[in-house]
Amino acid sequence: MADIIQLLPDHVANQIAAGEVVQRPASVVKELLENAIDAKAAAIKLIVKDAGKTLIQVIDDGIGMSVTDARLSFERHATSKIRTADDLFNLHTKGFRGEALASIAAISHVELKTKPEQDDVGTHLIIEGSKVVSQEVIVTLKGTSISVKNLFYNIPARRNFLKSNSVEMRHIIDEFHRVALTHPDIKFVMFQNGSEHFNLPKSNYRQRIVNIFGSKTNEKLVPIKETTAVVGISGFVCKPMFAKKTRGEQFFFVNNRFIKSAYLNHAVSSAFEGLLKEGMHPSYFLNLEVAPKSIDINIHPTKTEIKFDDEHALYAILRSSVKHSLGQFNIAPVLNFDRDANLDTPYKYKDKKAVAPSVEVDKDFNPFREDKAQQVRTSFKKETTSGWESLYVGLESKSTKTQHDFSEVQFESDEENTQIFEADKTVNVSSKIFQIHRKYVVNTIKSGMLIIDQHKAHQRILYEDFLQYLTVKEAVSQQLLFPLKLYFSAQELEIINQLKEDLEHTGFVFSNFNDSMVEISGIPTNVPESEVSVILEQLISDVQNEVPDANFSATDLLAKSMAKSLAIKTGQELTQMEQEHLVNSLFACKEPNVSPNNKVTFVTMTVDELEKKFM
Ligand code: ADP
Ligand code: MG
Repeated sequence: MADIIQLLPDHVANQIAAGEVVQRPASVVKELLENAIDAKAAAIKLIVKDAGKTLIQVIDDGIGMSVTDARLSFERHATSKIRTADDLFNLHTKGFRGEALASIAAISHVELKTKPEQDDVGTHLIIEGSKVVSQEVIVTLKGTSISVKNLFYNIPARRNFLKSNSVEMRHIIDEFHRVALTHPDIKFVMFQNGSEHFNLPKSNYRQRIVNIFGSKTNEKLVPIKETTAVVGISGFVCKPMFAKKTRGEQFFFVNNRFIKSAYLNHAVSSAFEGLLKEGMHPSYFLNLEVAPKSIDINIHPTKTEIKFDDEHALYAILRSSVKHSLGQFNIAPVLNFDRDANLDTPYKYKDKKAVAPSVEVDKDFNPFREDKAQQVRTSFKKETTSGWESLYVGLESKSTKTQHDFSEVQFESDEENTQIFEADKTVNVSSKIFQIHRKYVVNTIKSGMLIIDQHKAHQRILYEDFLQYLTVKEAVSQQLLFPLKLYFSAQELEIINQLKEDLEHTGFVFSNFNDSMVEISGIPTNVPESEVSVILEQLISDVQNEVPDANFSATDLLAKSMAKSLAIKTGQELTQMEQEHLVNSLFACKEPNVSPNNKVTFVTMTVDELEKKFM
């Protein structure tokens, strides 16, 4: 048999390797930024157009490359960063595989301009799909500029696979954040479609965080510093009261490399135990320094997982140093052995004002006026009531339909009901609806009974309302007496900005929008003012987590997210009237059976089924 094995031509091998190294424009951004850092740049400029689909350019003032190095840098396994396998165990650079430039050049149009400081002239190279198209001598500044145009131009499948610009841009910004956070000593500037998005001067770590995430961040940061034989920890955690619904601002860097670690995240979260409400996540920016030998560096360049020698020790040290800092900065209760801890004011009472005990005499009390008791009750149940108002929204327009839909689900008529219960006089005949476990609303129907999940059902009701506002665009808003100022990071503001028009259709009025905050002067009528920031945070988190694809509908996501934030929660007690309205509104919906996220909203149990259970 004839020989059939051949070596792959370089450009094919490079294209295959590129599949691993370059998943999306953000991967190119990461590789180019890291090369600039390895080249000891003091200032780095990133320019992107169309979320990197048309252009990604990184300009640095680093060491530059000689003519030969410039040509070699695009060869596979060409690197200046390691020479022997031993070097692998003592890495101090970001790159070392010598693969990035070769991969990028295989799948795009690359233009390189570079000059080492001591040379008079530099090199200008143009490479298209691994082929050098032109090489010239140019006059240029010290350092390197690499432009990557038309990414994936020769792999249509990959190009079509790219997500919308907003999603790709979010990935780019994520990478940019990670790199910029690791190197506060380097100035970073980023331009997107011609306008400056970030301008981060050389600074200390705290300032860098603030410059990225907004001026409000400063007061939130609690410093952490701990040096042990196993690990050095430095950085910041955010105070518990600024915890977020999103996991967005959680950063671990190990030896200046961004990593993801559920295990270490758990260590930090557990240090916050008892200080956070359920579902809230602490923000943190933590740098761990470990001996290069103690981690597995044989990680893939695009992967962010890492293997530590002594994970358990790391966990314990991290947890206790975060706990210690929270305690030291008076954020968590600390045990102080010099004093009797029992004498300390418990943490939760700290900010409360002491109130003199008093006996209140209601001078207006009139035992014959019935509504008095009622009033007192409602004032105590304010929270329930405010959430409850939203149940009524949109009901007017549906009331005619309600009747019709009810006949479909065959609710029992009063007469039949009394008949059933007559045998047992102890059952309160009038309450056909009741709530169990503050979670389910149970209702009798002709064929048996209906069990409704209050949270999911209410989500469905609100979701349909919001969808209607969003499509018909007729929502009414309530004017706020004092406009609400909410501070967000640039990235979060970008998300809100994208959804601004839709939010306006639900009733939000934005009176000011700048690069660190939004000012809101009007909100939807069914949204309590206190919930506004929660809603927007939830929305941002949903957009971030959904990583929406091409057929993503902003309106739908917004309606879902707001419904989720505002729906009455499990654990909330409902009055008889509230229960009735929940049932009525649910069955006035177009799709009462499922929540916006396709979860069942109610189940039925027929008398037959019940009877079987008693056999
Ligand atoms: P690696 O970074 O793993 O070495 P790359 O393909 O990213 O591999 O880069 C290849 C080589 O090109 C680098 O080792 C470095 O010598 C050189 N190089 C790349 N980018 C720059 C830059 N911005 N400035 C100076 N040299 C660079
Ligand atoms: Mg590199």
